[in-house]
Amino acid sequence: MTEQRRVAFWRDGSAVAVPADQPVVTAFDQGLARGDGVFESVAVVAGSTPHLDAHLARLTRSAALLDIPSPGDGTWRALIGAVLADWPSAVEGVCRLFLTRGPGEGSPPTALALLAAVPEETLRQRTDGISVVSLGLGVPADFRAGAPWLLGGAKTLSYAVNMAAQRHAHALGADDVVLTSLEGQLLEGPTSTVVWAAGGTLHTPPVETGILAGTTQARLFARAGADGWPTAVTPGTVEDLHAADAVWLLSGVRGAATVHTLDGVRRGDAGLSERVRELLAR
Ligand code: PLP
Repeated sequence: MTEQRRVAFWRDGSAVAVPADQPVVTAFDQGLARGDGVFESVAVVAGSTPHLDAHLARLTRSAALLDIPSPGDGTWRALIGAVLADWPSAVEGVCRLFLTRGPGEGSPPTALALLAAVPEETLRQRTDGISVVSLGLGVPADFRAGAPWLLGGAKTLSYAVNMAAQRHAHALGADDVVLTSLEGQLLEGPTSTVVWAAGGTLHTPPVETGILAGTTQARLFARAGADGWPTAVTPGTVEDLHAADAVWLLSGVRGAATVHTLDGVRRGDAGLSERVRELLAR
């Protein structure tokens, strides 16, 4: 069986593919020491990356928010080409792009691409839906917009809190999390955007709360709008999700995961998930 993991890194102006278990980063890299870097997770479908442009645009924005020089789209495309070279097209993959500050002291940033098969559990959640718990993030909804040091809107490597929130959910017997602000406003999932359907409209929380601008949510809203399904940016609460016709957590690799249980309460999707998936697949 072909090993389903690939790694490529940027060295002296070109993409170098290496065996997946070969070390490629110095122990002094600031990405490792401090989580000082940014990343993207890009879906690989039928051997290509259909939504890459939106991810590269966000990677460039994230790098600018952290003051890390962006290596440019050409570098990322070369790295992706290197990891995709002999990838079996029948295998759905997730390509992770990492950009760190590097070792510092005048060294260039570190740029890497990793490719692996989408985990079985992710595929199961896409099909079966997810149970979700709401957890507080402890920041006021309007705080991060005026606090650039908190890096709202940047997809940074500092995901330890996001991963801890998911582990907390697992300990409670749930699959995933909806994070809320200090006042109880909806923010996002630790690796996803919250979208709900209510009153014939698709809703998502405002990015001014400091959440990440989701590429999957943007694609869904553009296609829904063109298809006559109104969309809105709406500050909401967990109560709004309980009252909604349907709730999804959206992300590039998992797609639209239907929330079938929220804080222990079962909920339906009014048959809307099929339309959401069809719009995303167009
Ligand atoms: N919000 C956070 C915190 C994320 O990590 C992600 C996914 O990477 C998203 C939202 C959804 O973004 P996208 O749809 O671009 O994958």
